[in-house]
Amino acid sequence: MRKKIIAANWKMNQTIADAASYLDSFLLEVADEKRIDIVIVPPFTALAYVSERLSKVQHVKSGAQNMHWEKNGAFTGEISAGMIRELFARYVVLGHSERRTLFGETDEIVNKKTKAAIAATLTPIVCIGETLAERDAGQVEQVLHTQLTGSLAGIPAKELADVVLAYEPVWAIGTGRTATPEQAQEAHAYIRKVLAEISDAATAEKVRIQYGGSVKPGNTGALMGQPDIDGALVGGASLVARDFAEIVKIS
Ligand code: PGA
Repeated sequence: MRKKIIAANWKMNQTIADAASYLDSFLLEVADEKRIDIVIVPPFTALAYVSERLSKVQHVKSGAQNMHWEKNGAFTGEISAGMIRELFARYVVLGHSERRTLFGETDEIVNKKTKAAIAATLTPIVCIGETLAERDAGQVEQVLHTQLTGSLAGIPAKELADVVLAYEPVWAIGTGRTATPEQAQEAHAYIRKVLAEISDAATAEKVRIQYGGSVKPGNTGALMGQPDIDGALVGGASLVARDFAEIVKIS
């Protein structure tokens, strides 16, 4: 049985003051939700604060939204896995479609980052997903296959088992348009099949695959009821503590 993992991707939102009042109510709301791994992914500026607040909460952890693959050096504006780990954050979101589209991240870059995150004992949440044009052209499987084999190249099965994947169809992110539970399940089952090809069937069964793209309280139940959907990566609806708590409770 895979434990569900629900993550709040705050993107470029929430100051430290916003994070403080958010956690005041959110942590009370989810105090009893210990059957689920909950992850808060704030912007870097609030990461130290959020991590400190979560240090005493067993089932809620923090994560970063991005990182560089090198340990240190002349990379102005970048942050390393070790720096994130120093804040006691446990997760890092890698290859989000906004980073792939707006900041030119390729599968090769995501692969380097994934390996660096694992080496620093951070759990990567690796994002993949097709655009609307690719879906309309019948290329969903081909795109997912390329992204998976590229982003996860050279990662041994033992380490792959602990990587979290997020299937986020680009056309569903921030658009209010969610994949139907059936569309999402079909993609998740395919992703698991590719994982078995890359490693082995037992490893593929262990990997948790989140769905992301306009997840909200109203559509969470149907999505989480699918056999290969093991959680959610939530953007917009994670910015309101009560809505995100609701999503956690329904999952
Ligand atoms: P959304 O974002 O929930 O606002 O669609 C999801 C994501 O980008 O991770």
